[in-house]
Parts: sequence; structure tokens; C-alpha cells
Amino acid sequence: MPEVEKFDLVVLGSGPGGEKAAAQAAYFDKRVALVERSADVGGACVHTGTLPSKTLRETALYLTGFRRRELYGMSVRLDRKKSLRQLVGRLQAVTQAQTQQIRRNLARHAVPVVTGRAAFEDDRTVAVLDPEGQVSRRLSADVFLIATGSSPFLPPGTAGDPDVVDSDRILNLDRVPTTMTVVGGGVIGTEYACLFAALGTRLTLVEGRDRLLGGVDEELSTAIELTLERMGAQILLGDAVDSIVREPGRATNALRLKLKSGRKIRADKVLFSAGRAGNTGGLHLENIGVAVTPRGHVSVNEHFQTTVPHIYAVGDVIGFPALASVSMEQGRVAMCHAFQIAYKTSMAPYTPYGIYSIPEISSIGPSEQELKSKGIDYEIGRARFENNARGQITGENEGLIKLLFDPTTRKLLAAHILGDEATELIHVPMFVMAHGGTIDAFIDAVFNFPTLSESFKYAAYDGLQRVERRSRPTDGAVRATRCDPATRSYFAGVDLSRPGLLAGRPSTVCIMDRWRRCRFSTWAYESSGSGVLPDDIETLGYVLAVGCGEEMPEDLLAGLRRRGRGIVGETSDDCVEVVLARPSDLWKAWAELGKRRGASTPAARRLRYDILRAEALEFPVGPDAIHDDQLDAAAAAYAAYLWATKQASAEGAYVTITSRS
Ligand SMILES: Cc1cc2nc3c(=O)[nH]c(=O)nc-3n(C[C@H](O)[C@H](O)[C@H](O)COP(=O)(O)OP(=O)(O)OC[C@H]3O[C@@H](n4cnc5c(N)ncnc54)[C@H](O)[C@@H]3O)c2cc1C
Repeated sequence: MPEVEKFDLVVLGSGPGGEKAAAQAAYFDKRVALVERSADVGGACVHTGTLPSKTLRETALYLTGFRRRELYGMSVRLDRKKSLRQLVGRLQAVTQAQTQQIRRNLARHAVPVVTGRAAFEDDRTVAVLDPEGQVSRRLSADVFLIATGSSPFLPPGTAGDPDVVDSDRILNLDRVPTTMTVVGGGVIGTEYACLFAALGTRLTLVEGRDRLLGGVDEELSTAIELTLERMGAQILLGDAVDSIVREPGRATNALRLKLKSGRKIRADKVLFSAGRAGNTGGLHLENIGVAVTPRGHVSVNEHFQTTVPHIYAVGDVIGFPALASVSMEQGRVAMCHAFQIAYKTSMAPYTPYGIYSIPEISSIGPSEQELKSKGIDYEIGRARFENNARGQITGENEGLIKLLFDPTTRKLLAAHILGDEATELIHVPMFVMAHGGTIDAFIDAVFNFPTLSESFKYAAYDGLQRVERRSRPTDGAVRATRCDPATRSYFAGVDLSRPGLLAGRPSTVCIMDRWRRCRFSTWAYESSGSGVLPDDIETLGYVLAVGCGEEMPEDLLAGLRRRGRGIVGETSDDCVEVVLARPSDLWKAWAELGKRRGASTPAARRLRYDILRAEALEFPVGPDAIHDDQLDAAAAAYAAYLWATKQASAEGAYVTITSRS
């Protein structure tokens, strides 16, 4: 048996948690050894998770010209026969650079890396095992840190199939798939779904819950759903995979998936992203009294001590939030506690959360839904990048900053950002929150111009206006809607014409002012109709046209009736706020457009865009960037205007265009 070597600290695992913890303790003169079972340092962060997925994403956006194709009308064809590793040629360079950086950091702090699998002999000694299972070294220490990370689940029976992969093996795909099913709409599943949809893969995303990205502010997760649908992805919520069978002899779509609902899907490749378990197997924690959950996560207290106080655990092995960013800080904080270093005594109360979907999402603090469920009073301030100079230059149309703050003290409670720079921008509100700041911090600041950051100021102004409006009576009392519809301030359209629009699903809203300037937003369908239009527009007065397909949205109409909204045909014209429209009929009437709605070819879309532009409607985006659902919503908004100004009539509840106005 090898002699026992004595250290102050032995770290298990060289991912972000282990590396930063080892460096922190060594910086304060502790003798540290780090054990790593892989040949290379860096963990999931460098080799299978964070960096590979972000490098692949960047490659996909670059190679497909995705970011700018709407702006310049360009699109690029990919060589689908290339493996993902060939496609992401840069990945090796990124991985090597990061691995060397970590090795240099550990060497600079005089931390030796001991290669082999660690297992506890007792609570003061770790054995290092070689690939044959022989003990090569024995290390004892006063303090241990378990930072062994996590591994993905694969359902039983699918492990051997090269076309059924988890996020650790996705880079082994031999080509960019033509069709793919992603199982799991959490962070990793949604990120990869966006990435492959951008690469042109026909994608299906199956998620057991009723929405993607549970826990994320619903306004943002809804927007991502809509973006995915616009990229052609099919999203199946509230369903799960029952079985996967390979059909022998089929060259394409050889995998047949049966879902719990009975639905059947075919795919070239399947990515399972259904959670991860802590890497605790083989550490022999059960022999030394360290408590582990059934999912293999180590239980810790607020100082990251396990049930054996001199053994600490950080990072993915302790579970949520399982982020590289958080794992690093947990490692540093844990070591300061272990060695009584008066430096980092606790984690920052709020840590940012970055999701590299397309576009990105980043949040700090609770979601609106969380505040609501806790009964915390809040107000919202929003700014959209389509109204921001930098956003207009770069074509950043879908971006949004949403601030949540206390309406009495104005203290910033949370910030949620959607858009290409979201994971960078989030650090601005992060610092405001870290210092207990209010939204006045944004109002008083001078931002570079033109920048997306400038939107923080306008989100704060928007919030202040909403607070101011709280003191005014609304809803029924002085709503400016009880007047001639032609004099209303806004004409809005919501597109519910696509099949399968159910409560909770995202839909597109177009709000047109009297100068026919249109803006778009996304509405998470609520059958009460609440939230379909912003409060200020409800107060200032509007006519809303609900754009529908074959069926009337009876549940929505019932909800609007309950909320006292006047529906055409049911009340006098002066009190009407809601009409119905069939976008397909509107297009036909305007242009005798032979094609029915659903013909979403670029030529048909361009024709519709031109029809509305000829009617002097102004859009925040050009013809190549506008989507079918936005055009249908805009057509409905314009129909509302035509009805209100008596240039169109209503047959039943539906606006009918008889001649081009
Ligand atoms: C697809 C994907 C995308 C992600 N994207 C992001 C992102 O954008 N941003 C972000 O912040 N986070 C992201 N993450 C999460 C991030 O990768 C992890 O949170 C982070 O790597 C966890 O660090 P860690 O130190 O806890 O563990 P890991 O990085 O998993 O490292 C654990 C190390 O321990 C070693 N080990 C395990 N068992 C033993 C043993 N018995 N003996 C010795 N060594 C052992 C392993 O070999 C590994 O090197 C992503 C994860 C995935 C899977």
C-alpha cells in the first residue's frame, strides 16, 4: 500500500468548483492536492457542457448567418454531412486554451493534480485508483471538498444506440441531423433545440410540463416558445416519451418514438435532456456518513458542509442551480469557511442565471409569477429593443428588458432580459440589486449611446409611469373606451388563427396607433383575456380584433365578456372594444390573394407585407424579418381600425372587407 501523503485540503474534481476552491485555499497558504479521474482538467464545463455547447451555438449562428440573415436577407446552406466536431473546428482550440489556463492556474498556486479516481477510505483519507482499480496514491487532509459534478440520465434500453444521445455525447453526432426530437424543455434541452433549429434541423421538442423553461419568467419563456415555432420547431407540451424503437433498414427517420399521449414521431436523432444526477457513485460516502439524496446529490448546509463537517461539497454534485458560474463561487466561499479565512463569508444573495437559447435569456431575482404567488406587491417597467437605436441598427427586434420593483420604495426586486446580449446586460441590474438600489439608479445614470444598456433607463421610466397610473382610476371608471370607436387611441390585433392555440400558449399581438405605427408583442394566451394588451392601452382606449381561424375562440370571448369588454353585436357600437376577424379572409379581400393563410413562402409573405405597407402601416422590422403570425396580427389590427372608422362592416362578430379601403 502506498504511504499516506498529508495535505491541508484534498479536492475531488477539477471542474469550475474544484479548481477555484483549490486556488482559493492555496492562495491563503494551504497545502492542497486535487484529484481528477479524467486525463484532462476542466470537468463538464470545459469538455462536455458549457464551453462545447456555447462554441457550437456561436458556430451555428455564424455559419448560418442566423443573427443577420433577417437584416440582410441572406441565408447560408450547411454541409450536413459534416460531423458536429468537424463543424465546430474551433472547439478543440477553445478546449485546449481553457485546459491550459486551468493547469497554469493550479500550477501557479502550487496545487498538484493527481490523476485517478478518488474514493474515501475513511473520513480523513482518500485513495486514488488507477484504471485497473489499484490504489496508486493515498492522501489525507484536515478538509476535503467533493466537487465531482454530475452526469445526464439516459432512459434504460437506449444507451447503446448511437443516434440516441444525451448532452455529454451530442458532439459525437456524425452529421447535422435533418430531423431531431429533443426530450426535455429545461435549460439544456431548450438551448440545444434552439441551436439545431437554427442549423435547419426539423425539430420536435417534447416537455412534460405545460411550458418550457419552468422557473423562468413566463413572459420570456413564452417568447422563446414562439421563436422556436417561428424557426419551424414543433413543441409538444404536457407529454413524455413512452418508447423508442429503431426500424431496421431505414436510412432516414429510423427512430420511432411513441409518446404517452399516443402520438407517434419519427426522427433521425433523439437528444435526451431529462435531468442530471450527482457523481457520487464509487466515492464510498455511505461508509463515512455523508448524506446523499436518491438522485446522488450531496446534502450541504449554507456553508457547504456535508453531514460530516470537515467534508465540504460544491457545484453540480449538490444540485440546483448547477451552473459553472455559481460552482466557482461556492468553491471559494466553502474554502473561506473551512479555513476561517476572513474573506468571502457567504454567497451573494442574488446570482444571475444565463440561458443561451436563441435569443438569450438572463435573469436575476424572482420571476413575476414567483412574486405574485408570494403576494409581494410589484410593478413592472419594460423596454423593447425594437425601440432602441442600437437594437434598430443590429436588427435586435425581439429583445426586451423587464424590471420588477417595489412600487412604494422603488427598490429593484428582479430583472429579466431577453435578447442577444442578455447574459452580458444582466450585470447592470445585478450591481443595482447587490447594493439595494432602486430603479432611480437607471434614471440617474448616463449610458453610452447607442447601446442596448440605455434601455434600462426607459424600462425604469415605463415603470414610473405605471406607478403614477396606479393612482388614477381605471377599468370601467374613466376608461376612454366608452366613446366613438373611431376616436380611440389604439387598434390592436391578436393572431389566434393557428391551430392548437390553447390557454398558456404564446400568441402574437400587434398594436397600431392612429398614425398606423405598429409594434408587436407576445401574449401568453389567457382565456380571461388578461394581459393581451398593456394597461396603458386599455386605459387610453382601443379596438381589438381577435384574428381566428375556422373556430371562434369561445373561451377567450367568455373571458373578455366577464371582464366587461364590449363585443361587437352584443352591445352598442360606442361600447365595442372587441371584434373578430379571419386573417385568411382579410388577405383574400385585400389582394384576391389566391393562396390561403398557411402558404408561408417568402413570396406570399412579401406580398402581404406590401399590402399592409401600401395601406401606410409602419413596422419596426423589414419584409425579410417579419413573420407570418406578425402579419396576421397586423392585418387584424388594421381590420379593427377599418371597422372602427366605418370603412368595413361586421357580419355577425366578424369584420368583413368588401373592397380595398
Ligand atoms: C450542455 C450544458 C451546458 C451548460 N451551459 C452552462 C452555461 O452556459 N453556464 C453555466 O454557468 N453553466 C453551464 N452548464 C453547467 C456547468 O457545466 C456545470 O455547472 C459545471 O461544470 C459544474 O462544475 P463542477 O465543478 O461542479 O463539476 P464538473 O465541471 O462536472 O467537474 C467535475 C469533475 O470531477 C471529476 N470527477 C468525478 N468523479 C470523480 C472521482 N471519483 N474522482 C476524481 N475526479 C472525479 C470529473 O471527471 C470532472 O472533471 C452547462 C452544462 C451542460 C451539461
